[in-house]
Amino acid sequence: MKPTWKKTKTKSLKRSVTLGDTQREFTQDVADLIQFIYDSGYECTLGDAYRDPRSHGKMGEDKAYGRPTSAHKQRLAIDLNLFLDGKYLSTTEAHRLFGEFWEGMTQDNVWGGRFNDGNHYSRRYNGIA
Ligand SMILES: [Zn+2]
Repeated sequence: MKPTWKKTKTKSLKRSVTLGDTQREFTQDVADLIQFIYDSGYECTLGDAYRDPRSHGKMGEDKAYGRPTSAHKQRLAIDLNLFLDGKYLSTTEAHRLFGEFWEGMTQDNVWGGRFNDGNHYSRRYNGIA
């Protein structure tokens, strides 16, 4: 049985343009994604979300792990660790159902499975995803 999902009522239909508005919409989408994961019989834990510039460098700066222009630096990405029956699922393929769900929410959602980073879910903003 494929779980159903409906956009939350609080979300506006018009996508915003400021970084702050985009961050808040992204967070709402993450909540919906996590709910979909649980509704599908899976569980997850939170991995990296925001990467603080004091540790990871400013946008474009290559100071720690990850890409210098990562969406994590804009609070527009999250890595989710996926579990089924208590077993950690590490492959990109295990995330496909949720990655495609994520991409279906808005054309600006990007699933890391498209670049071999299956647990990465991000929002495109100013050309960065
Ligand atoms: Zn990531």
